[in-house]
Amino acid sequence: MLEKVPGRKVTGPASTDWEIPGMTTVAAYAAPAAKAPLERTTIERRAVGPHDVLIDIKYAGICHSDIHQVNEGWGESIFPMVPGHEIAGVVSEVGAEVTKFKVGDRVGVGCMVDSCRECEYCLRGEEQYCVKGNIPTYNGIGKDGQPTYGGYSEKVVVDEAFVVRIPDSLPLDVAAPLLCAGITTYSPLKHWNAGPGKKVAIVGLGGLGHMAVKLAHAMGAEVTVLSQSLRKKDDGLKLGADHYHATSDPKTFEELAGTFDLIVSTVSAPMDFGALLSLLRVDGALVNVGAPEEPVSLNLFSVIGGRKTLAGSAIGGIAETQEMLDFCAEHNIGAEIELIRADQINEAYDRVLASDVRYRFVIDTSTI
Ligand SMILES: [Zn+2]
Ligand SMILES: [Zn+2]
Repeated sequence: MLEKVPGRKVTGPASTDWEIPGMTTVAAYAAPAAKAPLERTTIERRAVGPHDVLIDIKYAGICHSDIHQVNEGWGESIFPMVPGHEIAGVVSEVGAEVTKFKVGDRVGVGCMVDSCRECEYCLRGEEQYCVKGNIPTYNGIGKDGQPTYGGYSEKVVVDEAFVVRIPDSLPLDVAAPLLCAGITTYSPLKHWNAGPGKKVAIVGLGGLGHMAVKLAHAMGAEVTVLSQSLRKKDDGLKLGADHYHATSDPKTFEELAGTFDLIVSTVSAPMDFGALLSLLRVDGALVNVGAPEEPVSLNLFSVIGGRKTLAGSAIGGIAETQEMLDFCAEHNIGAEIELIRADQINEAYDRVLASDVRYRFVIDTSTI
């Protein structure tokens, strides 16, 4: 085993001298333990390998799942944790064999940084469903055996195969949330054929939901928002919704029974899935992209009558993520964001939990 010491020179087996360039120390915000507030620290980024790019991170979005993982809501996490899987930045160094990118390119990194690359799903570009499990951008173990650290930091080193290009017309700050919230909603909308002539409902108008509304509208679907209250109705209509209903009003479920071809639920709190399923047409699908921490119970007659599908969907593959970014550039779609300094991260977490964000916090990483 070679020790990773900066600039250390070692002698190879065929008496070839080579340089181990060493790791880079970068500033980051990390949670030192479960449920602990995030604080400024430093982390080591691996040396830039032949297929790697070094990215100067400019912006990092705050996703609700960052908070779930800091709080161990989805099971045990690795600490210290540097969250962040909505990364937008600029390439500042490329490995010798990198072909997709050059220094100065505007790029993004989403929820995963590697996968087995050999299984059926990896080979067809659905790395998110890799049978060996994809390697998450943070709170995972990389192929080098080291924990992965996410985007709340100054720089990151990522294999070029897991880096996407951010089109020039998309500002980097509003593009950052597309890397998780954008692709997480784009992928099921595409898979279940949202488009002209289709009635699509989006449940919840938060970080994911507001992207789903913009994307479904741009795809040509008739879009309805189902939100707890009518508090954000004006916003929803501005974002592209045709209709807006409150789920707290029982009349909503009477009026809209049997209406939708597709419902995408973006809510990570427990929901009445039976009531939502009653709003589908025959052969309609209810797709869940939010992940409640607790199991849900459901009377299966709600899917049997009407041959309905209750489904889930996780992010999207790398090729599809690129397709989504190109679609967003073509339709001039970015996230609605509130830009914050790094020292506001903990306050932002509290506000996300209180649903007090319109619609995504994005960290200006120059303030780390
Ligand atoms: Zn996310
Ligand atoms: Zn795989």
